[in-house]
Amino acid sequence: MQFIDLKKQQKRIESAVYRRIQDVLNHGAYIMGPEVFELEEKLAIHAGVKHCVSCSSGTDALLMALLAYGVGPGDAVLTTPFTFVATAEAIALTGATPVFVDICEDTFNIDPEKLRDTLIHIDTHSPPGVAKQIHPRAIIAVDLFGLPADYDRINRIADEFGIFVLEDAAQSFGGLYKAKSACSLADIAATSFFPAKPLGCYGDGGAVFTDDDEIAERLRSIRVHGQGEDKYTNIRLGINGRLDTIQAAILLEKLTIFESEIEARQQVAQMYSRYAPSGLKTPSIPDDCRSAWAQYSVRSARRGRIQEALKERQIPTAIYYPIPLHLQKAYKYLGYQEGSFEICEQISSDIFSLPMHPYLQENEIHAIMQVVSKSV
Ligand SMILES: *Cc1c(COP(=O)(O)O)cnc(C)c1O
Repeated sequence: MQFIDLKKQQKRIESAVYRRIQDVLNHGAYIMGPEVFELEEKLAIHAGVKHCVSCSSGTDALLMALLAYGVGPGDAVLTTPFTFVATAEAIALTGATPVFVDICEDTFNIDPEKLRDTLIHIDTHSPPGVAKQIHPRAIIAVDLFGLPADYDRINRIADEFGIFVLEDAAQSFGGLYKAKSACSLADIAATSFFPAKPLGCYGDGGAVFTDDDEIAERLRSIRVHGQGEDKYTNIRLGINGRLDTIQAAILLEKLTIFESEIEARQQVAQMYSRYAPSGLKTPSIPDDCRSAWAQYSVRSARRGRIQEALKERQIPTAIYYPIPLHLQKAYKYLGYQEGSFEICEQISSDIFSLPMHPYLQENEIHAIMQVVSKSV
């Protein structure tokens, strides 16, 4: 059994993907070819946002979004310590300071109550290792495992403090929050097309979404070394952040089956919770949300035993995330310690993820939960 089975999807669309790749080989526009623009148009429509600016990865999407707003030294960007490292890394790369806020026990997403408290008391809630004054500039809310964060509350808090919200939708493309699509839920959003994400390509890729014309213009400039009117005028710092035409072509084909895959993921999640033994804590999704189910993550004090038993049956599992970001060596300079974020530390110690992809069969899910039941 595979943790994420990309082969089954490949079989389903193989000949169409080959045809799309062949088209690119024929026209030869490997950089910023027509498929890139066709994809951006379709993704913007899918997300219900005016502009989509594709780019080279989810990490670059986050970085480009922060750069487009001019985030830099002296700025505090509030985010969760329970995420993939890229979220905090993008903040630190701009010269700004990541300020962590603990998560909600039930959704694993940033806690709006604690977010507000951190903003009110930014002087005492600043990272203890950072000596200089920092000023709140932005919030990066992460839609962990595919479930959108609580944007009504987060956006209201951001308005109150005059700062902007970046939605890290790397795991949530296809998710919904109160009938609105992930990538449309904040001032600006970033997603990833890393192969294992719900909408993945066959390499690295990402995209930024915004309704703001001026920010979109800046993103397009930042994507190509901060270029101005033409290639040889450079008006700001930027990066080489373009999406390959071949990856855009692959994504165009994958997009045609994406909604049916997201539907299938809902079925898989439902079957998992139906067969789960009572001792296992399964994900809770608010009624007005749809998860994109990038991961199906469960909790148990007997995590080690369960993972061992599953491994014996060749059933792979993974831990997202074993070490919260505030305890990672790279972020030691912020001065946080064990105990700084208790909810997130507790969850790190007992969470693990089961195989999740749209092609999991009921008998496989049943078999997985049978093994879990015996060790939980
Ligand atoms: C995967 C991921 C990223 C980074 O995306 P890449 O395309 O791998 O650079 C950022 N944030 C979160 C939450 C992710 O899961």
